[in-house]
Order: sequence, then C-alpha cells, then structure tokens
Amino acid sequence: MTQKMLSEAEGYDILRKYEIPVPEYQIVKNGEDAAFAAEKMGCPVVMKIIYPQIVHKSDAGGVMVGIGSRKAALGAFTKIIDNAKNYNAEAQIDGVMVEQQADPGLELIIGGRTDPAFGKVITFGMGGTMVELMKDVTLRILPVTESEIRQMIHEINAYPLIAGYRGSKPRDEETLVKIITNVCRFFMENEHIIEFDINPLRLYESGACAVDARVIVTDVIQKAEQKERPQVPIEYFTPRSIAVIGASQDSSKMGYAVMHNLLHFPGQLYPVNNKRAEIQGLKAYPTITAIPAPVDLAVITVPAINVPSVVEECGAKGVPMVIIITAGFKEMGHEGKALEDRVVAIARGHGTRIIGPNCLGIIVPPRGIDTTYVHQSPKPGNIAFISQSGAIINTVVDWSLAKNIGFSNVISVGNQCDLDFLDYLRYVEKDPKTKAIIMYIEQITDGKTFMEVVAEVAKSKPVIAIKAGSSRRGQAAASSHTGSLSGSYDVYMEAFRKSGVIAVHTLTGAFLAAQVLAHPKRYPKGKRAVVITNAGGFAVLSSDYAERYGIEIVDLPAAVIDELNEFLPEFWNKGNPLDLLGDATEKRFEKTFEILAKHGDLWDMAFIIGFPNLVLSSEQMAKQILKFSERTENRLIATLLGGDSMNVGREMLKEHGIPSFDELDFTYRVMGRVLWQMYRVKAPGLL
Ligand code: ADP
Ligand code: MG
Repeated sequence: MTQKMLSEAEGYDILRKYEIPVPEYQIVKNGEDAAFAAEKMGCPVVMKIIYPQIVHKSDAGGVMVGIGSRKAALGAFTKIIDNAKNYNAEAQIDGVMVEQQADPGLELIIGGRTDPAFGKVITFGMGGTMVELMKDVTLRILPVTESEIRQMIHEINAYPLIAGYRGSKPRDEETLVKIITNVCRFFMENEHIIEFDINPLRLYESGACAVDARVIVTDVIQKAEQKERPQVPIEYFTPRSIAVIGASQDSSKMGYAVMHNLLHFPGQLYPVNNKRAEIQGLKAYPTITAIPAPVDLAVITVPAINVPSVVEECGAKGVPMVIIITAGFKEMGHEGKALEDRVVAIARGHGTRIIGPNCLGIIVPPRGIDTTYVHQSPKPGNIAFISQSGAIINTVVDWSLAKNIGFSNVISVGNQCDLDFLDYLRYVEKDPKTKAIIMYIEQITDGKTFMEVVAEVAKSKPVIAIKAGSSRRGQAAASSHTGSLSGSYDVYMEAFRKSGVIAVHTLTGAFLAAQVLAHPKRYPKGKRAVVITNAGGFAVLSSDYAERYGIEIVDLPAAVIDELNEFLPEFWNKGNPLDLLGDATEKRFEKTFEILAKHGDLWDMAFIIGFPNLVLSSEQMAKQILKFSERTENRLIATLLGGDSMNVGREMLKEHGIPSFDELDFTYRVMGRVLWQMYRVKAPGLL
C-alpha cells in the first residue's frame, strides 16, 4: 500500500469543489513570479513552502504571513527556500505558494481519519498551532446527521467562543454546520482519502475560510473484514450431551480439569481417550465416532497438531458445535494461523461451528455446564459475561463467589475463528436468564457490524463494556493533527456511546452497573437526583462526587421543603442533599421517602446513603428503601457504607434486585457512566 500526501494546493482544489471556502492561491518557482503574484492578488499575502512531507510547515520556517509588498514577496521567497534547506538539506522543494491572506478569525480544526475497526471518523475542535496542547476535540463515526454535527459543535469546551463570549459577537455557526456537513460528504465520497486535517478553519461573524489543508490518500482501499455469518441456533448453547476429547485422569492435564468441572452436568457426559477405558468414574470412548448416541457439543483439549483430525471426526459424527480449548493457533504467528485456517475449513465442510480456539469455553451455571478450568464454578444468576481474556474470567469467577454474584453465562471468546462477539451477543440477547451483559474487549475487527448488533441487543438488555488499551503508549506516531488527537480508544468510546453500550473502566464498576441495570426498572429516566442520608459528611461528599461524575442534584421547590419541615428537626439543612441528621429514626426516613415518592416527577434517581448507627439498623434502613422502591417508578440507588455490620441490610436489598454500593465514589461514578451513555453527559471525572 502506498500512501501519499497531497499538496496544499491540491487539497484546496478538492475542498473548493465541496463549497468549502479557501483562499485564492498561485504556485511560483522563483522570486520574480512571487512578487508578480503578490501584486496581482493584492497585498497582504501569505507565502508557504510546498513540501508535503512535513506535518507542520511552520516548524520548518515555511510559512510567512503579512507580506505587504512586491519587494517583501521577493525577499520572502528566498527566505522560505533557505529555511526549508536548513531544516532538511535533502528536502525536495516543489515551489512556493502565494495565497490571499485571510482575516484573523477563531481558529478551528476539522479532521478525518480511518479507523481499522470502525471506518471513517470525523473530528472537530479548537484548531491553530496549539491544537495538540489544547486537545479540545470531539469525534463521530461517519455517517453523521446534521443534529449530530450541531451536537459536536456544542460539545467542545471552547464552544462559548463560537456562541459569543464576554461581549464578543457570536460567530457564524450556521456556516460552520454547513462546512462540517460538506467535509463529511467530501470524506465519504472519496474512498481513497484516508486522513485529512483542515487546520485552521477560520470562523468569522459571517462566513469562514480554510487556510490549510493536509490530505492523505492511498491507492489501496481497505475494506473492513466482512465475515459470512450464519446464525447460531440458541440450542447449540443448551446441549443435552457433551463429549470431552482429551479427557484425562492426570490432574496436571487440562483434560482433567475440564472433565472435573463438567461432572455436575445433568445431561450425558462422554470422556474420549484412546488409552483408557474409564475416566473420573465414567466410561471412556477411544474416539468420538465410537460413542453410540448423538453428541451435541464436543470440548477439545488435545494438542494443537491433533485438532484438525479431531474436528474432522466431530464433523463426521455430526456434532453441531465444538469448543477448542487448546492454544497454539493464530496467536502464535503464521504457522498457527495456517493450522487455524485448516481447522476452520474442515469444520465448515461439515457445518460444525467452533468456539475458540485458545479459550476457556463456556459456563452456563443454570444448566450445570462448565467447560473451563476455573477453580470453582460460579453460581447461577442473571449476568452474562463475555470476555476476550481467560485470566479475567478466572479472576471474576473467583471473586463472584465471595461477592455472591451469579451468572447466566460466562463465555471466553478466544481467537474467535468462527463464533465471535456478535454471535455471543445474539445468543445472550435471546437467553431468557440473562438480564444484563458485560463484555471485556481488547479488539474488534468488524466494527460496523458490531455497532449494528450491539445497538439491537442494548434495546432489550443493558450492555456494559470494559475496553482495554486506552494508553497512548505504543501507539504508532501520527502523521496528522487528527491522528494524534483521537486515538483508537476514543473511537471505541464513541462507538459504544452511539450503540447504547455503557463503558466502564473497572471490573467492580462493570458488575455494579450490571446489577443496577438488571433491575426491571432499568435506566433512570433522566439525570436529576435527590440524595437522602443521615450522615452530614456523606451529604457533602455526595455533592462533590455528583459534580465530578455529571449527576445533577436538583433544587427542591419551597413547597416540598415546607412539607418536610413539618416533621424534620428544625436544624435540618432544608435542601438537597437531604441530611436527616444522625439521630434519624426509621420513621423519619419513612416519612421523607413518602413525600419524595409523592413528588416523583421532580427527580429521576434517589441516592440513599446509610452508615452504621445505633438509632437505625441496616435492616430498618433496607426495609424502608424497599417500601420506597414500591412507591415510586424512579430508580433508587443504595449505598450502605461501613463493614460487615451493614450486611443484613445489604442482603435484604440484594434479594430484591437492589445492589448496595459500599464505596460512595463508586456509586456516583457508575451512575455517571450510565448517564454518559444516555445523555452524553460530560464531567471532569468521566474523562
Ligand atoms: P502548518 O503546516 O504549520 O500547519 P499552515 O498552513 O497552517 O501551516 O500555516 C500556519 C498558520 O499561518 C496558520 O495556522 C494560520 O494561522 C496562518 N495562515 C496560514 N495561511 C493563511 C492565510 N491564507 N491567511 C491568513 N493566515 C494564514
Ligand atoms: Mg496548519
């Protein structure tokens, strides 16, 4: 693939075709011509080196502005060529551009790049020579609607500079909308353009002008990988009979652990081992074809080199799906990839589907299925966890036992040579036991299809994702401002937001979000919150955290405060957060909750915070929260702070699907992430 940078002049020419205003220009090869051009155009003019290989012409002393006369143009020509030669003695210089000088204006950037997973992406923000310093940009995955373009403009921190700040006149926002719309069209319609910067675009009180354009083109157009994907019937995940190929009696072998975890499977379990007649108390068969009954699922743990022949046998036997636990495929480089391709071809020939390879397989606790080698199988529950990391599955499962969290499914995707995230998402969408979905993602190949599928799934079940790889370390050096301003992680975040996925940064956060949203009331209907507590300290912290994570603590109308005054002690704070004071009894909470339930139209979420206290047990508190929950359609979020003394209340709430947080920062952070998804809330703590 060869990539090429167009010259600024070529860039201007394309932009002009899309009705994006650019300066008049002329290319000159000597000082005389420069002087002539300046005079013809009318001074002042700007002169720039034509030297597409450098990212910033200014860095090479290649831009001179405010050239006011013929004579100055003559001098500027020599100076610019000298500067470029000093910058790089081997520089190949095609000439100098003389262009009209645009009036000063607000300098913005519009850029585009092509993401390997999600395709063409557009960025917009504060431009000029300090873009990388200010980093005030926002991005969208194309195509975008006009209203999304307006949203982008409003979203940058410097938006007040466009709207009119401290007495300055507003700038021409309508022209800006039109220009961004046209830029999007320009990017979409020209397939060979893979990256560009318009920096700066100068925006005026009326009109605008683009005074620099860098456009990168390629001669090879790469299309995102589009797999053929026949749907996987849900019954493939509810096998009645399972064979373990490579089942072992030797506790140091993978085939032992897998077999061991499957011993609880209530259906038929067939060990396959060509050396032994019995494995872990069950009759073993030398090959899968020797099993006298149908096999719905085969779990393969034999060495990689033997996998093709084993898959061939599974195909011959008519096994609809196999799980290949074995590693040593694509993840090992070229040879491994070739082996994997062979296995896929064999399976396809028989219509057999594959989970893995290089995975842990699946755990379906409600059905007693566990093909993994986790220490102890997790409990049944309503969360589906789909993970690209096996180690994270081991960790999460172990931790879930202590936290008393259960799963509908745990799926380790491995190399995804056949079934991938999309198939698993479609499956858990249909699985009646699943009420919330968590994904741990490292990389997605076909981002566009991913967005379509996950957006569908998210309509009926909450989807939460942890995306690894946000650090800039190790990312390739960028060839444009746009490239360095928006990394691939930012594109994932935008893809998540657009398709209804809640992005979180931690496993604990993921599970808390899943537990909150698994409740039948699901999402809060807005971002207005009330806070009720008997702890003054936590009331103050609540205000801090709410602000940090973009949750709006509403002011309650005087009439409601009056109603509360009727029974609250004289010294209560008479505002939101509602501090019911340390001596608050069960009755005081009950009455407060009654009044808030009556005025449920004033708020969307209630954060209730309790702490270990002699006047009010965690049990009493939980009882009142549950009563409150029955009285309102709004979401209640409970935080019972403290040690084990609060466990009774926590358990009571959990039984009714209300998880209780035990760290206040987490409460607000998790709900902030939910609101970020729903309303694009921007808050300092969510960055
Ligand atoms: P660079 O390659 O360094 O980004 P630019 O072409 O953007 O070079 O020029 C640097 C700066 O000079 C711009 O950010 C802008 O402020 C100013 N400039 C460039 N061209 C013009 C012009 N035609 N009219 C007015 N100012 C200009
Ligand atoms: Mg520039």
